[in-house]
Amino acid sequence: MSSVIPTPKSGILEITPYVGGKAKGTGGAKVVKLSSNETPLGASPMARATLKDMADKLHLYPDGGSSELIEAIADIHSLAQEDLICGNGSDEILSLVTNAYAGPGDEVLFSQHGFLVYELAALANGATPVKAPEKNLTTDVDAMLAAVTEKTKIVFLANPNNPTGTYIPFSEVERLHAGLRSDILLVLDAAYAEYVRKADYEAGVSLVAKSNNVLMTRTFSKIYGLSALRIGWAYGPKDVIDVLHRIRGPFNINAVAQVAALEAVKDQDFVEKAREHNDKWLPILTQSFRGMGLKVTDSVGNFLLLDFAETGKSSKEAEAFLSERGLVLRDVASYGLDTCLRMSIGLDDDNHAVMDALREFLEQGK
Ligand SMILES: *Cc1c(COP(=O)(O)O)cnc(C)c1O
Repeated sequence: MSSVIPTPKSGILEITPYVGGKAKGTGGAKVVKLSSNETPLGASPMARATLKDMADKLHLYPDGGSSELIEAIADIHSLAQEDLICGNGSDEILSLVTNAYAGPGDEVLFSQHGFLVYELAALANGATPVKAPEKNLTTDVDAMLAAVTEKTKIVFLANPNNPTGTYIPFSEVERLHAGLRSDILLVLDAAYAEYVRKADYEAGVSLVAKSNNVLMTRTFSKIYGLSALRIGWAYGPKDVIDVLHRIRGPFNINAVAQVAALEAVKDQDFVEKAREHNDKWLPILTQSFRGMGLKVTDSVGNFLLLDFAETGKSSKEAEAFLSERGLVLRDVASYGLDTCLRMSIGLDDDNHAVMDALREFLEQGK
């Protein structure tokens, strides 16, 4: 037997595999999973109802172009169908973009605590991930522009960003775009756009419409509650969409996901309910946690970043304390935020349970 073994391309062995939010607690208590920014309201009843009908169609290949779904997305967002593409989760689109536009010797730029998938996608393609420092856990456009080099090929901006929950106003996104060379692709990851209620926020449609180098990605995993089915989409310039279609899998969106997302996108009343639930809880939780001595960013998403640094207790101890009570939050040490935990907003009872448990935890030993 020869001792020479197959070797992956450079960069791949530098990847620390992505670990999702935990789904289990440590005690016997009923588990409340608040670790992956899923909606506590589940998916639209209309989307759920499609699953039964699909049981008789599992032997059929899906529509490779996801055409009905693309039509519905185009309709709701007033976009042209040919400018859209669906992905197996928006994660797939982030990977496809990187596969297409960055390789060895190229740089992929994002902010310091930017979504982890950008780094993974860069390394998987042998490209170099570059992180620009943030200010107050928020993207700093000047720092991003200062980090651009002649090797930069892609700039990823999660707006709002996960796990920090912070956003930059659209005027800042435009300033970032204006400062980039026209051959750099700016990817606006707007996974939480539906949750944002700020007059100066825009997901990016108008910037995509007037540029040749901006792509916006969206997902059905967050407010639409279809994480399990893996489906996202992107809106971009024709040339970029064409490139992504060439390299995607021929049947990248399974048939169940296509029909469920089609129903979900039509049920905007359900989306509105999820938004209202979030609007109610975001300020209550933010103020409550701040009152306990935690530092909390001004999140505009469906989750909060809780910093234990000034409490004299560690986030690890807090995570364990909550986990014993079935309350599963997200450890964000992989983002370099070791003193923090991220909490997704849950149902009323879940949120009360976390507030009560954290109050008890922080008062222990005082
Ligand atoms: C959750 C999330 C996504 C969505 O991922 P999917 O693959 O669509 O489930 C994308 N970007 C950010 C910043 C996220 O937090």
